[in-house]
Amino acid sequence: MRKINVFDTTLRDGEQSAGVNLNFEEKLEIAKQLERLGVDVMEAGFPASSQGDFRSVQAIANTVKGSSVTGLARSVTNDIDVAWEALKNSAEPRIHVFLATSPIHMTYKLRMTPDEVVRTAVESVKYAKAKFPQVQWSAEDASRSELPFLATIIEAVIDAGATVINLPDTVGYTTPHEIGNMFRYLTENVPNIDRAILSTHNHDDLGMAVANSLAAIQNGAGQVECTMNGIGERAGNASLEEIAVALNIRKDHYQADTGLTLKEIKRSSSLVSKLTGMIVPSNKAVVGANAFAHESGIHQDGVLKNKETYEIFTPELVGVSSNRMVLGKHSGRHAFKEKIVELGFNGTEDQLQTIFKAFKDLADKKKDVTEDDLFALMTEATVGEAVAHYELEALQVNYGTNNIPTATITLNVPSEGTIQEAATGSGSVEAIYNTLERMIDGPVILEDYRIQSINGGRDALAEVFVKIQYDGVESTGRGTAHDVLEASAKAYIHAINRTINRRAYNAERMKQLNA
Ligand SMILES: [Zn+2]
Repeated sequence: MRKINVFDTTLRDGEQSAGVNLNFEEKLEIAKQLERLGVDVMEAGFPASSQGDFRSVQAIANTVKGSSVTGLARSVTNDIDVAWEALKNSAEPRIHVFLATSPIHMTYKLRMTPDEVVRTAVESVKYAKAKFPQVQWSAEDASRSELPFLATIIEAVIDAGATVINLPDTVGYTTPHEIGNMFRYLTENVPNIDRAILSTHNHDDLGMAVANSLAAIQNGAGQVECTMNGIGERAGNASLEEIAVALNIRKDHYQADTGLTLKEIKRSSSLVSKLTGMIVPSNKAVVGANAFAHESGIHQDGVLKNKETYEIFTPELVGVSSNRMVLGKHSGRHAFKEKIVELGFNGTEDQLQTIFKAFKDLADKKKDVTEDDLFALMTEATVGEAVAHYELEALQVNYGTNNIPTATITLNVPSEGTIQEAATGSGSVEAIYNTLERMIDGPVILEDYRIQSINGGRDALAEVFVKIQYDGVESTGRGTAHDVLEASAKAYIHAINRTINRRAYNAERMKQLNA
């Protein structure tokens, strides 16, 4: 059985999804979960692209020890130097340098001849190898490159010290048959290919990212690049969970498997969805809400007689619990702590206290507190904003079918004390947002608003995602509460706090640069 290395790029390519903007704490939280999932390599960002990316890649490299942490770099010495600064203390320093190899990219984007491209690639790999024990080199747009040229440049970069060769389908153009041929051709035509691991990286523009990844694996790829829930540029990347389960369930066919802890899949998926605000469609393979729902009477009957009649793998395999009640109103602090540590909590005593209080409040209102509820409360407390400029103290809404909806809100503003305001709107949520807009400097444009329930059921927790434009910056926010109006207010305030924190961070950065 071949072991396939999983290279997760949720925090780099995934974070490039339109509208996604993770902050420092959120990236770190996802990185810790990916480590629990057991990914071999995680790409934490592009250190030279911004100070924020540098800081989060460095923090992840210093924190995560169970997976190799890597960062992206263009084929220029400054990018490689900056990546080294960010990654030098990681368990196994690894860099990912790339250069385009397709005729269209070389001619129009790079404006370089093929010989210049080979020379630049070799120089950058040599430069990187002087610092990093592990150097991954990517031929950007490989699937639209000429095979003999790919063979030439790959042989040269392996001689220069590259240990992993990645062949991305950058634009999501290839087919399973073609990608299989590309990997087979290179395996047969690059003399020193046994000194490197071949890697595949696919985009889903034509809906073939997972199929292409599996075809590459069948034809010699030893590493697969993917993201949780398939998020990423445009139509996204290949889904980690689909590839991992396909290999596991069809080991008989692929003769290959990953080293992932599959039962961490569901939680990883939920965390990424929650923090990015990208909702997982119900019909999504492996992690969708309906992935294990048998609706037809004939199917249900079959499953009752023998699960295997219609179920090719169990929900438990990927960590979908039957969502039993885990704690109740009378659960003590000790049992509570044990449970959330099991769910991956490793925060401070203060955070523990906050979550315990939120749990007690929820248990008063909701009969069964499930694992998903606890996970939501935990995420809310551990990845909150570094500084809360506004905090919701009290909210009251008057709504009637014959009245004008009115909201009265009290906010706690650490610099000013409490402030109160009221406003109307054509609906309850609008009344809340109109009130908040008055309390916060300047106009706020609400670009998106989405609501979902955790688990369903009448007493379920509500989760609201918003996307706003405030102060010329687009920002997302989320709020969880037992009541939809409170969750709506919290999501909006969260987005405002995020914008202010980013503004403060950028101002600090400008001061440093000018000093
Ligand atoms: Zn990509």
